[in-house]
Amino acid sequence: MTRVAVVGGGQLARMMAPAATAMGVTLRVLVESADVSAALAAHETVVGLPGDDEAVRALLAEPRPDAVTWEHEHIPDSLFAIADELGVPSRPGREALLYARDKIAMRERLDALGLPSPAWRVVETEDDVADFLSVHGGAGVLKTARGGYDGKGVRIVRHPADASDWLAAAADGGPRLLIEEKVAYDREVAMQVARRPQGEVRAWPLVESIQRDGVCSEVIAPAPELTPELQHEAERIARLIATELDVTGALAVEMFQVGGRLLINELAMRPHNSGHWTIEGAVTSQFEQHLRAVLDWPLGGTAALAPVTVMANVLGGAREDLLGAWPGVPDADAKVHLYGKGVRAGRKVGHVTLMGDAVDATRKRAAEVAAWIRDGGDA
Ligand code: ADP
Repeated sequence: MTRVAVVGGGQLARMMAPAATAMGVTLRVLVESADVSAALAAHETVVGLPGDDEAVRALLAEPRPDAVTWEHEHIPDSLFAIADELGVPSRPGREALLYARDKIAMRERLDALGLPSPAWRVVETEDDVADFLSVHGGAGVLKTARGGYDGKGVRIVRHPADASDWLAAAADGGPRLLIEEKVAYDREVAMQVARRPQGEVRAWPLVESIQRDGVCSEVIAPAPELTPELQHEAERIARLIATELDVTGALAVEMFQVGGRLLINELAMRPHNSGHWTIEGAVTSQFEQHLRAVLDWPLGGTAALAPVTVMANVLGGAREDLLGAWPGVPDADAKVHLYGKGVRAGRKVGHVTLMGDAVDATRKRAAEVAAWIRDGGDA
């Protein structure tokens, strides 16, 4: 039996389960409680938190997993230590994961590799912020180095005083802060690759990701009007990061496109929302590829299967009984994914994928189905 252990009970771990089943791999997941998203789908579950050593030992107990991987970045050192002690490879490893967890460490490393980032600096005082704003057009994006997600931990600042509460929190032992130039980008794109320990890297087509209120709402694959030059540049960046940072498994590089240039926004070392389209839209899904990569198995093909694939997130809205949406789904070609999560306003509770020939028409169809599931009918 081949077995992969996964830490985290959300939809990313959940969507590894069907891929594992198809591959004949057993998935054992460490979940926060017995009723979370991944617990309902995994082959084996252990209930506990990543900092709970007893639960981690149960996760890695005989029959011993061949590798342990993560669906989020918040992995305590104690977990890596137990995996080392028991001889279970951590993929990606602790050093690599630091760059997905800490935006200051990431920016320093990317600069050292000569890779393109927005202008940035660490800030500790209002004077630091004022200095930065005075040379970068009067507006900047203040970020917490750690702990942010879905736009939390990101704030636009135009005056040093806009940063005062976060600066005080940082001085008081809270997360360190950095400020970045506010990039006037044409669009946001994401490059996904996977790398196995042996060194093989495979890349999917570059995608466009559209955010609303700091949360990804739609992904278009490939990115409309993708040129070979842009794909090449995006792949160069992601391959270099995967190799130099010794990433194993899936890597998503979120970037800003400005004309023909790409600037790196952030890294995720796991399957990522911008890659959900690959489940139906590519030869190998990001979930299958992640498992193959962490097992150090040969990677699968990454070609897109349709001229356009659109993924639309379903965020929590009026409908509470999401399964009640099924009988009325207004498009037989829509692939609907529900994560088995309780509905809260704005929470990612599912997604819809549609494949087609034309970008606008496919986007419209995906958006209609996502809206129907969120709010439609008698819900
Ligand atoms: P999170 O870690 O919460 O995902 P991000 O760093 O990805 O935060 O930022 C969230 C959003 O804020 C981005 O998708 C982008 O729209 C905007 N943003 C972040 N950094 C910049 C920047 N330097 N210039 C312009 N917009 C930015």
